Amino acid sequence: MNVIFMGPPGAGKGTQAERIVSTFHIPHISTGDAFRLAMSQETPLGIEAKGYVDKGLLVPDEITNGIVRERLQQPDCNEGSLLDGFPRTIAQADALDVIMESLGKKIDHVINLGVDRNLLLARLTGRRICKSCGATYHVVFNPPKQDGVCDKCEGELYQRSDDTEEKVGTRLDEYVNKTAPLLEYYRGKGLLREVNGDQDIDLVTSEISSLLRG
Ligand code: ADP
Ligand code: ADP
Ligand code: ZN
Repeated sequence: MNVIFMGPPGAGKGTQAERIVSTFHIPHISTGDAFRLAMSQETPLGIEAKGYVDKGLLVPDEITNGIVRERLQQPDCNEGSLLDGFPRTIAQADALDVIMESLGKKIDHVINLGVDRNLLLARLTGRRICKSCGATYHVVFNPPKQDGVCDKCEGELYQRSDDTEEKVGTRLDEYVNKTAPLLEYYRGKGLLREVNGDQDIDLVTSEISSLLRG
């Protein structure tokens, strides 16, 4: 089963992906996580991506497509995958079709997490992430048991440098201009499933799970 999670920054893609991959036992592929890892290791990819990510801009398609092409070839993707935050442009979606076809795979579901734009800023500026395991929290909406400490692994929580009010504005503009047109693209292919991401986290998870179970 190959699934795509779409939605604006802060919609809950990462939060839901963590839960869905543990139930459905498919790898979680996040291009955002891949860029952050490369940036922290200062690899050539990371250095190149940093110039875009730090400004809240999308990384160019050719760079992003290359990461996904390599990742989907790994044997752990044989039973399926959950793509979180990819594709984000029509050109990426076209590239994904080519990659999937060449690997004999197909996209089964595109889940769109719809969230009122007015909620996104508060979600993003309050987001905290575990340095060790990547788990996502929110200082108000989904706080850890102990301030600044991960419930799962006791790792230290940090705030992403692009989760500031200024960068969020740019990221939302990128979403509206480049990513939102993909909704029509996937609706046209009959793959789009809409989920209301404004609801309680557990409720969103159960709606996604039942869609995936078909
Ligand atoms: P995305 O990966 O789509 O950018 P995240 O999953 O990182 O979104 O969620 C953004 C922030 O909003 C995080 O701090 C997360 O804890 C919080 N969050 C996620 N889902 C919900 C929800 N349904 N209700 C309230 N807060 C949420
Ligand atoms: P969010 O959780 O807020 O949706 P991500 O962690 O998915 O954000 O992405 C963070 C940043 O990484 C983006 O603002 C962008 O710079 C880059 N990025 C992630 N995925 C893509 C993609 N598919 N295409 C281009 N850039 C991407
Ligand atoms: Zn952790």
